[in-house]
Amino acid sequence: MLDVVDIGKRSLATYRGIAPDEILDELHWLSEDLRGARCMHLSATPYGGGVSEILRSLVPLYNDLGIVTDWKLIHGDDTFFQVTKRIHNGLQGAPGELTEREKATYLANAQLNAHRLVTDSENYDFVFVHDPQPAVLAALSPHLDARWIWRCHIDTSHPNPAFWDFLSPYLHAYDAAIFTMREFIPPQLPISDVRIYPPAIDPLSPKNHPLPEALARDVLEWIGIRTHRPLITQVSRFDRWKDPLGVVRAYQRVRPHVPDLQLALAGSLALDDPEGWEVYEELRAATAGDSLIHILTNLVGVGNIEVNALQAVSDVVVQKSLREGFGLVVAETLWKSTPVVGGRVGGIPMQLPEGTGGALVDTVEECAEAMLHLLRRPDEAHLLGARGHEHVRQHFLMPRLLMDHVRLLKHLAA
Ligand code: UDP
Repeated sequence: MLDVVDIGKRSLATYRGIAPDEILDELHWLSEDLRGARCMHLSATPYGGGVSEILRSLVPLYNDLGIVTDWKLIHGDDTFFQVTKRIHNGLQGAPGELTEREKATYLANAQLNAHRLVTDSENYDFVFVHDPQPAVLAALSPHLDARWIWRCHIDTSHPNPAFWDFLSPYLHAYDAAIFTMREFIPPQLPISDVRIYPPAIDPLSPKNHPLPEALARDVLEWIGIRTHRPLITQVSRFDRWKDPLGVVRAYQRVRPHVPDLQLALAGSLALDDPEGWEVYEELRAATAGDSLIHILTNLVGVGNIEVNALQAVSDVVVQKSLREGFGLVVAETLWKSTPVVGGRVGGIPMQLPEGTGGALVDTVEECAEAMLHLLRRPDEAHLLGARGHEHVRQHFLMPRLLMDHVRLLKHLAA
């Protein structure tokens, strides 16, 4: 049996007045024929990172529409997740090769998970498989008479062929694939029905729900941040593609100009991310003894409310990624009307169009300049943040993503 993730109940009606009305109206009639259909979302981890963030909100909303939906997890041990992390990096273009031993580890684990799928007695009409970790399961589960959809959340535009040639033959079993951007579709993808659906955030989740300002400040004081001093934050997994050391260097360039400027780097350490621990240690070593730099993790209780407060109270939030899928943290921050300095990669530019939300940067120097510019011009920062909020409302809230999914399911069911 696969583990089922416990999820709460949510009602689409509570999004009235928050998400655009047209989307909420359309969702109701669009989903009528799908009532009673069975759907499963399959992923690798119940917390840490964007996929779990999305599924925690999306799966209850599927159920609210009458599409009976479970979220299940594949099993894996550290060795397996070390291999899947290498595959993840390789598909995003990192150099290297997969050894025969690594391939065998990955496939043996997939066989075990395919077996667990069989022993789950439920029948599903639709199975969504998220990211590369469980991607081969469609090919290994021919007995499951469902429509299979691969949701690839990462940038696979230029995969390292050593990794892509290994994975891609297993993808032919999918009926459809979803990517965040057209540019991310890998070469010779053996799936013909390809959709482009950017992810979305949940404006009613604990991470995004509006916090009273005094409470948000108290929450930050509690974790050691002095809220009367200026604050720059990056929230992301401890991952080299998120360039946390680059953020530290950019911050160090700005600090001589802004007395008492603090930097908060909040990161969660996830089950399927052994490399995160290494990056975390590097970061601690690089910032040791600096009392204005706060390195915060889920291990010391930094969870949704703390991230919410950081995104709401910071003067500027940075997401200096070098490679990015979408970058949910950008939408989360803009939703709080806080300006963002973001790396010009992946899905970040679609969230920060010219004159909206903040600035796009390519280097540490540009990042430092943009941070300083916004810290010195609070009125401009405020205006950019307010435009960012409206941009997110129109394009990146959960009901829009749910509508995209419902359209796809209707098409596949036809
Ligand atoms: N996140 C969090 N705590 C942390 C770091 C990240 O809750 O310490 C959340 C963050 O708020 C966002 C998600 O994890 O919702 C990261 O998604 P994103 O798309 O930005 O990046 P990914 O991790 O999927 O590459």
